[in-house]
Amino acid sequence: MAEQPSAANNKATTNDFGIPIASDNESLSAGVQGPLLLHDHYLLEKLAHFNRERVPERVVHAKGGGAFGELVVTNPDIANYTKAALFQPGKRTESLARFSTVAGEQGSPDTWRDPRGFAVKFYTEEGNYDLVGNNTPIFFIRDTIKFPDFIHSQKRLPGSGLRDHNMQWDFWTLRPETAHQVAWLMGDRGIPKTWRHMDGFGSHTFQWINKAGERFWVKYHFKTNQGIEFLTQAEADHLAGAAPDFHRADLYAAIERGEYPSWTLKVQIMPYDDAESYRFNPFDLTKTWSQKDYPLVEVGTWTLNRNPDNFFAQIEQASFDVSNVVPGIGFSPDKMLLGRVFAYADAHRYRIGANYAQLPVNAPKCPVHSYSQDGAATYTFKDPQAAVYAPNSFGGPHADTEKYGQEGGTWEGFEDRFVRAGYVQHAEDDDFGQAGTLVREVLDDAARERLASNIVGHVLDGVKEPVLSRVFEYWRNVDPDLGKKVEEGVRAGLGA
Ligand code: NDP
Repeated sequence: MAEQPSAANNKATTNDFGIPIASDNESLSAGVQGPLLLHDHYLLEKLAHFNRERVPERVVHAKGGGAFGELVVTNPDIANYTKAALFQPGKRTESLARFSTVAGEQGSPDTWRDPRGFAVKFYTEEGNYDLVGNNTPIFFIRDTIKFPDFIHSQKRLPGSGLRDHNMQWDFWTLRPETAHQVAWLMGDRGIPKTWRHMDGFGSHTFQWINKAGERFWVKYHFKTNQGIEFLTQAEADHLAGAAPDFHRADLYAAIERGEYPSWTLKVQIMPYDDAESYRFNPFDLTKTWSQKDYPLVEVGTWTLNRNPDNFFAQIEQASFDVSNVVPGIGFSPDKMLLGRVFAYADAHRYRIGANYAQLPVNAPKCPVHSYSQDGAATYTFKDPQAAVYAPNSFGGPHADTEKYGQEGGTWEGFEDRFVRAGYVQHAEDDDFGQAGTLVREVLDDAARERLASNIVGHVLDGVKEPVLSRVFEYWRNVDPDLGKKVEEGVRAGLGA
């Protein structure tokens, strides 16, 4: 590790403008014990800059870690479905990952039960493609308008500043669409052993467009090549105190050892017209597409092989934008996805500043020909002779509508049915169905026992009536046996 400065690196200290300074240790004062002098500009710079070392932490996904790597396409057939440069045969694309918890703040333990952010940036030759997913294929809610309410309910009480399970379960039980994600969260995969031992998902449905202009719907799955491993609640509770940075430290150490974690990137591909008649709403983020209906198709291998040199510059300031989709990839009428298209870039402009895309970690590795200009901390700028508006008569960039005009911002035939007309009912669209399938058909007996025990432990930590009765009903709706076990466990714990 190159963490400690080397003794040979013995250069004279300067201030931020390269001016050698008189002392690292003594302020300038009027006399040995006298007052400090205002013209000690180095002291002023040091104190003032220190006050500005933090940028606002992310409202969600504040605690995380990450690394650099690459995607290598191993399945040439995938190019039949998308013309995106990064998915062409044999293609190798540089990448950045950031993993995180959702509700905890900076410094909170890595092993709290929470979904994990799984954000991936691909520096493609046609701009940055950011796939900003989670380690779960689904989410708690299906409409972005509920997002601030949902996050408030998972964070802290306004008065005491404490987290509160009663508030969490109140929201969950009042919004039964949460059942699938809560069943997932309370199960084994709700606390991964490390970030290396979890799968990642793009979660939303995206659109792929091939060279012939044909469109498909896709879902991304990053399947861990390290194998799925998880922590029990007791192990996680112990680590939360003993090693709060457990996941961040594990990823860093593995890469330093040369043990590069990798994932096999796979996709589910749905023919465009299937969306209307599929038994689940394919644009509902609380639902998966059954892999029996749409099997996983291999795309390539994604490997993380380089640690950041500077955590703040390269991970804290890393900005992943759901709005960053490249030619050959588009959005879908998923109401969570469409809200996130706004929210991420907006968050970075607030957190980092209007020119966050100019920072090396965020800058694309292809030429930029945009008409943005100025703003705080402008670093890159155009040739002074270049036109600053479009259209212009001086050869400035102009949109290539013929080539890019049909990209994925649209979904012909689906606007009315999925967006303007609101939610469309598909044959198996009830809120509890897929959660029940997970419990009954995917989990084995031991995993079901751990699920019940995790729920009981969580509920006993502060959930009160009238929320409590709704919790029992919620789990009975997912699965009658599980509901019974939860109620019996909680009543026994309460001594009732
Ligand atoms: P399949 O039997 O084809 O797939 C089951 C999926 O469940 C696999 O992806 C498996 O991952 C995953 N899984 C296994 N154990 C757990 C666990 N403890 N927590 C969460 N996921 C787990 O079934 P279907 O595709 O028809 O889906 C059935 C149910 O499986 C869904 O209702 C959903 O709850 C769950 N699921 C579905 C996924 C999908 O994209 N279709 C993805 C993940 C879960 P692995 O292969 O890594 O063991």
